[in-house]
Amino acid sequence: MTQQEFPLSLITALRAATRVVVLTGAGVSAESGIPTFRDKQTGLWENFDAAELATRYAFDRDPAFVWGWYEWRRAAVQKAQPNPAHLAIATMETRVPQFTLITQNVDDLHERAGSRNILHLHGEISRPYCEGCRQSHVFPRATPKIALGGEERIEPPRCQSCGARIRPGVVWFGEALPDGAWASARESARQCDVFFCIGTSSLVQPAASLTDLAIDAGATTIQVNPDSTDIDDLVTFSLRGPAGTVLPQLVAETWNIPQ
Ligand code: NAD
Ligand code: ZN
Repeated sequence: MTQQEFPLSLITALRAATRVVVLTGAGVSAESGIPTFRDKQTGLWENFDAAELATRYAFDRDPAFVWGWYEWRRAAVQKAQPNPAHLAIATMETRVPQFTLITQNVDDLHERAGSRNILHLHGEISRPYCEGCRQSHVFPRATPKIALGGEERIEPPRCQSCGARIRPGVVWFGEALPDGAWASARESARQCDVFFCIGTSSLVQPAASLTDLAIDAGATTIQVNPDSTDIDDLVTFSLRGPAGTVLPQLVAETWNIPQ
């Protein structure tokens, strides 16, 4: 993609901002090879909508099918690397006095890119926990059995303390968000000068309502997405393009960082 022209008012607002919030969705990890929920599924899960697998109902009905899918995604995340969008967001954090990253992603690519102040609204795929005692279970980094593309059904393991079933460490559709992260996310969206929503369809609630909070509070709002969304006309600036191209350019131009 050629160099994007950014409106001067956007650059000025970003340079002057003391509080910046970035909300990210699956699109920010798409260029790292992690499929979004709108991408087609492969293998065993080909005929399923990802959003249908990410539910308590699906897990109860067929635990091995859903656990296998999450193990496959966990392996994909471990193999993936942060892309230039994750890196640009981490750089932004070093230039802004108060910076909060709110992510809907369950991968750890923001952490691995160097971001520090992160709220995971939808949990973390690397932290499954026990349905009984809620103890979190850290798994060895690589599960040798599951190679990428080697889709299979896998029975969920049992908790070594209480014997209950282990479940994926993510927030499923229909479940409440973690209280602390959600309260902090709302607070920071209400108080920021600049609010970004990057790589999110803005369809999944309640996460999408954070953008409305920032708009109502008078923040400058910036969307980054290659496709159009329902909030194109609500945000102050809608930047069309892949996050891995747009963000490095924006960060470089705002803070005069040579690319
Ligand atoms: P979504 O799947 O609803 O939407 C993804 C958005 O990203 C779309 O609007 C798409 O146009 C955009 N996009 C695609 N490529 C992009 C790119 N290169 N740069 C910028 N934008 C790009 O994702 P969502 O809004 O995050 O909501 C779906 C739910 O799925 C969330 O709850 C999330 O927890 C979960 N999810 C997480 C991951 C992950 O952790 N990586 C992956 C898939 C889904
Ligand atoms: Zn237990």
